[in-house]
Amino acid sequence: MSIRKNRLKISEILQKGTTVPATQVMGWVRTKRESKAGLAFVEINDGSCFENLQLVLTMADAGLTDIISQLYPGTSLQAAGKLVTSQGGRQAVEMQVESIEILGSADPHAYPIGKQKMSYEYLREYTHLRPRTNTFGALARLRDMMAQSIHEFFHQRGFIWVHTPIITANDCEGAGKAFQVTTLDLAKLAASGKAPDFEKDFFGEPVNLTVSGQLEGEAYALSLGDIYTFGPTFRAENSNTSRHLAEFWMVEPEMAFADLEDDMELAEAFLKHLCRAALEKCPREMEFFRERVEPNAIARLEEIASKPFVRLSYTEAVERLKSSDEKFQYPVEWGSDLQSEHERWLTEKVFQGPVILTDYPKAIKAFYMKVNDDNRTVRAMDVLVPHIGEIIGGAQREDRLDVLTSRIQEMGLSPESLKWYLDLRRFGGVPHAGFGLGFERLIQFVSGMGNIRDVIPFPRTPGHAGI
Ligand code: ATP
Ligand code: MN
Repeated sequence: MSIRKNRLKISEILQKGTTVPATQVMGWVRTKRESKAGLAFVEINDGSCFENLQLVLTMADAGLTDIISQLYPGTSLQAAGKLVTSQGGRQAVEMQVESIEILGSADPHAYPIGKQKMSYEYLREYTHLRPRTNTFGALARLRDMMAQSIHEFFHQRGFIWVHTPIITANDCEGAGKAFQVTTLDLAKLAASGKAPDFEKDFFGEPVNLTVSGQLEGEAYALSLGDIYTFGPTFRAENSNTSRHLAEFWMVEPEMAFADLEDDMELAEAFLKHLCRAALEKCPREMEFFRERVEPNAIARLEEIASKPFVRLSYTEAVERLKSSDEKFQYPVEWGSDLQSEHERWLTEKVFQGPVILTDYPKAIKAFYMKVNDDNRTVRAMDVLVPHIGEIIGGAQREDRLDVLTSRIQEMGLSPESLKWYLDLRRFGGVPHAGFGLGFERLIQFVSGMGNIRDVIPFPRTPGHAGI
C-alpha cells in the first residue's frame, strides 16, 4: 500500500484551501506551543514550499495527549484531519488533527537546528541538516528554479544542451589549477621514489577534472550552431574567498556565426531573463531574502531586468579607477587583472548597475580569445554586477588558424595536444563566441547571500570536502 496516496503537500493544501474535505500531511515539526485553553499548536514544514502548516490538537483528546508530549523540533510525523479557516495561524488554513503518528523522533537535547538565530558558519558544520531551515530551504528552491529557467531560456532560443566530459586530457585554459585524476597508487609510488609512469595510469596519459566545458562546446557549436553546456567544473585554486569554490556549476553557451556584440547581447538578455524568473517564480523566497538577507534584493533585480547594461572598454575602466579618489587595497595598472574591489567600485559606486567590460589585455586572458587589430587586446567581455563583481566571462574566439597556433605557442601550450581544437579552424572555421556564467555566483547575486559556501548544498573549498 502506498503511504503517500492520500497525502497532500503543504504547497497543494495552501493552493486548494479549505475546499479539500479531509486529508493527510507529513512533515517535520518546526515549533510547538501549548495554550491555556487546552490546545496544542504544532507548525510543520514538508519542504514543498516556504510556508508551514499549523496543526491544532486538542490536548484532552485521549488519542493525542501522549503523542503531543513527544513532539519536538525535528520530529517527523504524519497527521490526518480537517482543513479549516485559520483563527490565528500565519496561513489562511490550518488542520484540526484527528489522528497523528510519529514517523521519526528527534532528541531535543541533541538536535542541532534550534529556533534561535544560528550563524551561517555554525550551519556549515551541519550541511546535511541546514536544508531544514528557512534560509537553506529557500535557497534550494531558488537554485532549482534558476536551473529550470536557464534551460527554458536556451530551449526557447533553439540552443542545444550538450553534455561535455568531466574527465579530460585538456588543461583547457590555464584557468586556475586542475585536479589531477589518477588510479596510480600514490603511496607505493612515493615509497619507490620513482617518477609516475602515466602510460600505466588508467587513461595512459595524465588527465584532470574539467575546468570548463568550453573547448568541447566549441566543437559542437561548429556543427550545430547554438549550444550550451551546464554542469560541474573544478578548480584547485587555493583562494579562500567568498566567491570561489573548488567545485562549482557553470553554464557555457557557444554560438557559431556570432561576434562579441552578439555575445554581449546574449549575456544581457540571459541575465535579465533570470532576474525576471526569480521575481516571478520564487516570489515568496525573494520576499524572505529581502526581509532577512539583503534589503535591496527585489529592487535590484527589478532594476536589472529593465535597465540597459553599461558597456565600457577595459582601458576606459582602468583610467576611471586610476583617477578616482577611492583607496584600493590593490593598485590598478593597465595590464593587470581587475580585483573584486575594483569591479565592485565600478558597479556599485560609478554605474550602480551591471557593467560589461570589453577588450582586455591579451596577456591576462586565455589563448583562444580573438586578438584585436591593436595586437595588445582581445575580444573578451566580462559582465560585472554589484555585490559580486565578475559573474560572466566570455569572448569572441580566435578563428584564424595561424594566429591561434602562434597564441598557443606563446602561452607555452602544446599545439599537438590541441590538434583537434585547431581542426575546428582548419575545416570550415567561422566567427564564433560564447561565455561562462558561474551558477553559484548567480544564486549569490539573486539571493544577496554573502558567502558562496552557502548557496551550494555541499561546498568544496580548500581543506573541506566532507559532507
Ligand atoms: P575570477 O576572476 O572571479 O576568479 P575567472 O576569470 O577565473 O573568475 P572564468 O574562467 O572566466 O573565471 O569562468 C567563468 C565564470 O565562472 C566566472 O565569471 C565566474 O562566474 C565563475 N567562476 C570562476 N571561478 C569560480 C570559482 N572558483 N567558484 C565559483 N565560480 C567561479
Ligand atoms: Mn573571467
